[in-house]
Amino acid sequence: MNIETTCVQGGYQPGNGEPRQIPIYQSTTWRYATSQDMGKLFDLEAEGYFYTRLQNPTNDLVAARIAELEGGTAAMLTSSGQAASFFSIFNLCSAGDHFVSSSAIYGGTYNLFHHTMGRMGIECTFVSPHATEEELAAAFRPNTKCLFGETIANPALTVLDIERFAKVAHEHGVPLIVDNTFPTPVNCRPIEWGADIVIHSTTKYMDGHASGVGGAIVDSGKFDWMAHADKFPGLCTPDESYHGIVYAERFGKEGAFITKATAQLMRDFGSIQSPQNAYYVNLGLESLALRVRQHSANAQAVAEHLAAHPKVAWVRYCGLPGDENYELAQKYLPNGSCGVISFGVEGGRAAAETFMAALKLASIETHVADSRTCVLHPANATHRQMNDEELVAAGIGPDLIRLSCGIEAAEDIIADLDQALATV
Ligand SMILES: *Cc1c(COP(=O)(O)O)cnc(C)c1O
Repeated sequence: MNIETTCVQGGYQPGNGEPRQIPIYQSTTWRYATSQDMGKLFDLEAEGYFYTRLQNPTNDLVAARIAELEGGTAAMLTSSGQAASFFSIFNLCSAGDHFVSSSAIYGGTYNLFHHTMGRMGIECTFVSPHATEEELAAAFRPNTKCLFGETIANPALTVLDIERFAKVAHEHGVPLIVDNTFPTPVNCRPIEWGADIVIHSTTKYMDGHASGVGGAIVDSGKFDWMAHADKFPGLCTPDESYHGIVYAERFGKEGAFITKATAQLMRDFGSIQSPQNAYYVNLGLESLALRVRQHSANAQAVAEHLAAHPKVAWVRYCGLPGDENYELAQKYLPNGSCGVISFGVEGGRAAAETFMAALKLASIETHVADSRTCVLHPANATHRQMNDEELVAAGIGPDLIRLSCGIEAAEDIIADLDQALATV
């Protein structure tokens, strides 16, 4: 099926007389006739639901649609993108383990990997998203359990060389995990380029209407855990908390990762997405292909306009010829990248502040990927604690403006930017 079809048909085919739209199972628990029936569920011997902290049918239907969109074999929803990032790593790493990540990642993911996972005894080495094979290989250690990157980094807007990262990960017997939040499967399907696990903040384009925080994890079903059993005891040796089940044996390559993350991590951490929010994500998915095309086309038009504007000092967008990520974008994102651009106004911080104050259509928000255009001046918001020198060192200069183009008419977004630039 083409992606437009999967957006509306994937994951859910109602039977005779069943609801056309995915139903919301707003129930914490399920009723069973006998204790034996329930016992089989707890032993993972029978399929079924018992408690929404672990699994809920609404969530599973939406996750199945996302799995189909990404070309994976299994998926789960989480309460946020942060929970998806955490589960994807913690499903493979324990205290004493190590993993490698691109340094061009979402700020929340950096905090999680560098600070919080460090406190759990799991160490992360950061590498450039443009690292060579040799530089990547040099970051690996005997206890390295996975490699992580973002297809298009938020907010750095670098493009990951997925094939290169996958090659080095596989040479070291570990999976590549890719955060595909910004392009969505409409613009890039990382599994086709060798990624093993794909994660999402569904809060962004998948929801798309600024209505609910959520996340998702998709397994490609391709990584052979048993071939590297020494590295992944959690998947390849008996789980004492589940009556000695060996996930990779019982559920195979296709199901082991998500089953373990559900049975262990969701059970113990409880980061479930509410079924109501899953329903909203599903409504977003139905128009995902249409919206992502409009977001990407608008951003391309806006980036080209800004690049030619005399009051704009610089523009970063991988769809612009001459951008340092242009060639990678042509390879991995030939139909468009995403709606997010960053740029600087001539005149630095003060000019940026004047510009921001004059915007009428674009609203100031710490959000991206909404249907409405939104904008942020990090030096006055998310990075407010840094002085100008520290901002430059972090790659987020005092003049940097992050613009997330919505699905309005490009002409109207451009008119708003132009009238605000005229005040500078
Ligand atoms: C927002 C974001 C996250 C975190 O997701 P939340 O849903 O806010 O927890 C992770 N990765 C990327 C690329 C993001 O943009």
